[in-house]
Amino acid sequence: MKVLKFGGTSLGSAQRIKQVAEIISRENHCIVVCSAMAGVTDTLQEISSCWSRGNKQESFKIKADLLGFFEKHSRELFSGQYGFFKFREQLIFYFEEVEKLLRGHWTKQKEMQLLALGEVITSRLLQAYFLTELTQEIKRLDAFEFLHLNQGGDPSVSDIAQKLKNNYGKELSGRLITQGFICLDNSGGASNLGRGGSDFTATLLGAAIEASSIEIWTDIDGLRNNDPRYVDNTKALREISYAEAAELAYFGAKILHPACVWPASRQNIPIFLKNTLNPGSPGTAISGNVRASGIRAISAKSGISMVRIESARMLNAYGFLRRVFEIFDQWETPIDVITTSEVSISLTIDNPYYLEEIAASLEKFGKVTIEREQAIICVVGDVLACRQEHAGRIMKAMKPFQVNMLSFGGSRNNLTAVLPAKEKKDALQALHQQLFLQTQVPVTA
Ligand code: ASP
Ligand code: MG
Repeated sequence: MKVLKFGGTSLGSAQRIKQVAEIISRENHCIVVCSAMAGVTDTLQEISSCWSRGNKQESFKIKADLLGFFEKHSRELFSGQYGFFKFREQLIFYFEEVEKLLRGHWTKQKEMQLLALGEVITSRLLQAYFLTELTQEIKRLDAFEFLHLNQGGDPSVSDIAQKLKNNYGKELSGRLITQGFICLDNSGGASNLGRGGSDFTATLLGAAIEASSIEIWTDIDGLRNNDPRYVDNTKALREISYAEAAELAYFGAKILHPACVWPASRQNIPIFLKNTLNPGSPGTAISGNVRASGIRAISAKSGISMVRIESARMLNAYGFLRRVFEIFDQWETPIDVITTSEVSISLTIDNPYYLEEIAASLEKFGKVTIEREQAIICVVGDVLACRQEHAGRIMKAMKPFQVNMLSFGGSRNNLTAVLPAKEKKDALQALHQQLFLQTQVPVTA
């Protein structure tokens, strides 16, 4: 059994849904995981934001437009009146639910219920197309019935496996369809896995059913060795290891949700990144047995803030780092990159929401400096093994830039540099030139 996940742009119009259905039709045993049609989650989020700000009229207007959006695309999708009107009944039901939510006070729980409707309606639409238009069977699994977060807010593969078995048992065969992104929290309320979380649903499900493979379908030909928006002559990556894919996903490659690699890697299930617009293209295979070695790719992530704490009290003291980390913990802010010296710590965060509060709390330790508008550049591959060959090249490429932090050896698969975001594009190009285009040129760093 395979898991096939389709992203929002792949399901973004009647035409695209037809292409997706063709891909699914080739499989006899699979679970299809749907994202919401492109733009729908943003629109639902807007309805919620307007309502919570008291702008009720605007909420109703956006809601009416969204209904119109689904009506337009579904009218195009079904050739006859029957299919369209049958689906429209479901659509009206869900929009009545929205209307009920938009009564009285706005709560976080209502927001979560509202956001879930993007995936629920899209999966209904795809299922309806299979049943009424293609007259092919496709059974529906309800993500709320098998994907429940634990007390710590995390999903568990064994819990999903158990719930699938209890709720669906022998029905878990043939073609099945479910919703990505959505789940229940540990008190049974609607919740989700965070933006872009459908990839995560796909790999969790893949691990739970011990899938033969997990295919993540988007509208690009897999991962490339650099960001084609900033760099020319980038190359497709045919295969990449789990660890490398996780680093790339976390540090900038938007194609994949960063958390989605581990469920597959733990069970050694290959993930294939494929393109719905070019289904014949091999895409990228992510697995545990990759033959390629060396430096594989470069990626970057902007919107980073850097915090530096300088304190003589760190000298020969123990427990200092713990006390610093506790402050980030208290403000629920994850740390990405860290470098330390005997008397200072530099670290980066990508969520600056509590930056002022964090800085104020850190002042008790020493001098605190904040640099906003930074970017993380990440060189991914078997970096540790290639250090002799490539360290000089990397240094040479980075020479013109104001590198504020450099982290090497934290993982064998990445070397990370932090520099001002305005230098990101030039740095990506310089590294690309040194690492991928000039391999024969001797280096004097
Ligand atoms: N629909 C959700 C989002 O837009 C989840 C996903 O597409 O993966 O973030
Ligand atoms: Mg996505």
